[in-house]
Amino acid sequence: MERKQFQAESKRLLEMMINSIYTKKEVFLRELLSNASDAIDKIYYKALTDDNLTFNKDDYYIKIVPNKENRTLTISDTGIGMTKEELETNLGTIAKSGSLAFKKENELKDGFDIIGQFGVGFYAAFMVADVVTVTSKALGSGQAYKWESEGADGYTIVEAEKDSVGTDIVLQIKANTEDDNYDEYLDEWTLRNIVKKYSDFIRYPIKMDVTKSKPKDGDDKEFVEYTEEETINSMVPLWRKNKSEITDEDYENFYQEKRYGFDKPLKHIHLSVDGTVRYNAILYIPEKTPFDYYTPEYEKGLELYSNGVLIMNKCADLLPDYFSFVKGMVDSEDLSLNISREMLQHDRQLKFIAKNIKNKVKRELETMLKNEREKFEKFYASFGRQLKFGVYSDFGANKETLQDLLMFYSSKEKKLVTLAEYVERMPADQKYIYYATGESYERIEKLPQTELVADKGFEILYFTEDIDEFAIKMLLNYQEKEFKSVSSSDLGIESENKESEKEAAEKEYNELFDYMKNVLGDKVKNVKVSHRLKTHPVCISTEGEITIEMEKVLNAMPN
Ligand code: ADP
Ligand code: MG
Repeated sequence: MERKQFQAESKRLLEMMINSIYTKKEVFLRELLSNASDAIDKIYYKALTDDNLTFNKDDYYIKIVPNKENRTLTISDTGIGMTKEELETNLGTIAKSGSLAFKKENELKDGFDIIGQFGVGFYAAFMVADVVTVTSKALGSGQAYKWESEGADGYTIVEAEKDSVGTDIVLQIKANTEDDNYDEYLDEWTLRNIVKKYSDFIRYPIKMDVTKSKPKDGDDKEFVEYTEEETINSMVPLWRKNKSEITDEDYENFYQEKRYGFDKPLKHIHLSVDGTVRYNAILYIPEKTPFDYYTPEYEKGLELYSNGVLIMNKCADLLPDYFSFVKGMVDSEDLSLNISREMLQHDRQLKFIAKNIKNKVKRELETMLKNEREKFEKFYASFGRQLKFGVYSDFGANKETLQDLLMFYSSKEKKLVTLAEYVERMPADQKYIYYATGESYERIEKLPQTELVADKGFEILYFTEDIDEFAIKMLLNYQEKEFKSVSSSDLGIESENKESEKEAAEKEYNELFDYMKNVLGDKVKNVKVSHRLKTHPVCISTEGEITIEMEKVLNAMPN
């Protein structure tokens, strides 16, 4: 028998994975059950597209069999199975997802709820097992194969006996250690709880033989034990359940189960709307920026279900770009299942739902800002930039929606403040909302231009991101206060008196300025006296609305 080695990187990755990716060992079961569910989804898909195959829903299920004597836990499914090659590529290569490949091959964008895509879930089995044996027979193949591995050391594949199509995964459960109790993964009651917690809404029955007892022939003092096969998951999706029955933990588990993200969401929003358009939605505001969030690869969208059946994985029309970080799903009985994508775009119900979602998310963020400032700041650190892009795009059309959610660093508070907070603090003689741009707060602090404004006791907002000033330019003003860069030529605080002094000085140093202008040539437009300086000898300023920082960005833009 040939023993194949994991690739070197895979070996390290596997060790890392097994020990660190999951905080709770019990999630191994969720991973194996979601793989089983994916496998059944795939055979269901094949049956839909192949006339020679029929799909009889009762034939498709998952079974969990704990065996305390042998210390084994078996998870069987009647899904599509794996060929020898598939065992090798899908289980022998970490981060290789056969499910993702399947989705791509079959261009399965709509209609299928296949969860797998990262190709790491399976290895969670090694958190609780010393040996994992996978016996599988693929649809349309006469021969079954057995894959076996003890973890990082590699795996073997041999021919095996198996009558029906599908997969049996046998875990040799680890012995208890001082820190960890593995026995519980052989315990009916614990297994049942884990299934309920993570996999309750898997759409196929998850069966287990459950020990029960009943009175011995009419005698209500003596009982006999017997086992009965039971379906332990309710198969009712979370959003169909009564809100009062759902715990915060249920929402979090749903987020993880659905792979909306690996973080713990900051907030969940559960909508059950029973008006002209009826729909349920579970939405999440994530805590962390997805790794590809600020790249063109990122795809926004919510899962869209029609009466419990998934019709689209990422329905982009449900979310405005500035809320593209929102994750979750919408289920509506009023959407027709056969609606094509193009039609969806124009669907009035859909537009109605999208508008409600937008307003709801806005309100939730405002409430978070008001009542849970710290949480909001976390949110803002991850997605604030997107809100600013939102203000800038669509020619400022989203001003009303977004302006109250913006935050900038304040020279006075030394932390992020909202525009409302800024305006409220403005002294009566302050006309403008001042801002300064630069690479970092420290550098802005040292800008000569900030001195005069700060000296007047006026607060300055520090802009360190490219988008900041563009967004502000689009807003024009906030509560009728105009924004003003501290480096613009007219700051609105130079006094009359100073104007005449300035003229005198300009005459006096005329020759020097001419000389400087000559030396600097095209680099400057003009050299003149400034009253905005205190301790610094010179500063660069701009005329008109484009500041130096904006010019830099504009010049860096591809034409
Ligand atoms: P993911 O589910 O993210 O793709 P996994 O590590 O959980 O990653 O699984 C890797 C791949 O192994 C799956 O994509 C699938 O192709 C295959 N696989 C795992 N379990 C089963 C199963 N029970 N039946 C059929 N294929 C499976
Ligand atoms: Mg998986």
